[in-house]
Amino acid sequence: MFRDQGLKITPQRVSVFRVLHDNADHPTAEAVFDQIRDEMPSISLRTVYQTLHDLASMGEIRQLDLGTGSARFDPNVKSHHHLVCDKCGRVTDVHASFDGVRLPRTKLAGYRVSSTEIVFRGECPDCAGSNAVAS
Ligand SMILES: [Zn+2]
Ligand SMILES: [Zn+2]
Repeated sequence: MFRDQGLKITPQRVSVFRVLHDNADHPTAEAVFDQIRDEMPSISLRTVYQTLHDLASMGEIRQLDLGTGSARFDPNVKSHHHLVCDKCGRVTDVHASFDGVRLPRTKLAGYRVSSTEIVFRGECPDCAGSNAVAS
């Protein structure tokens, strides 16, 4: 399950990884904690935080700051883009290629760009729907 990095496979890491695996919700640490407590009632939020950060620094998951107030954790470590709901903080993967997006040399400030990540912000269908009902 873990790539061979000579790092210890602890029960906490296995549980956190299992919760995140195939999870497209980009959960917060608190959401991961809530799910893990079912199978590991003794685990603390602090341990979940630490384990998430360990997994992120091992490159097994990605930590995202999408401006939703809390860090979000993503099992998809391949380059991809996100749709973010400004109302409820829902995050959805966007699998589309924006390789054609190029900055003109004059805007690059000397950087060599290796990847591009785009965040699309707005309202998810649920939030847009409840607005429509309210108005
Ligand atoms: Zn929403
Ligand atoms: Zn994602």
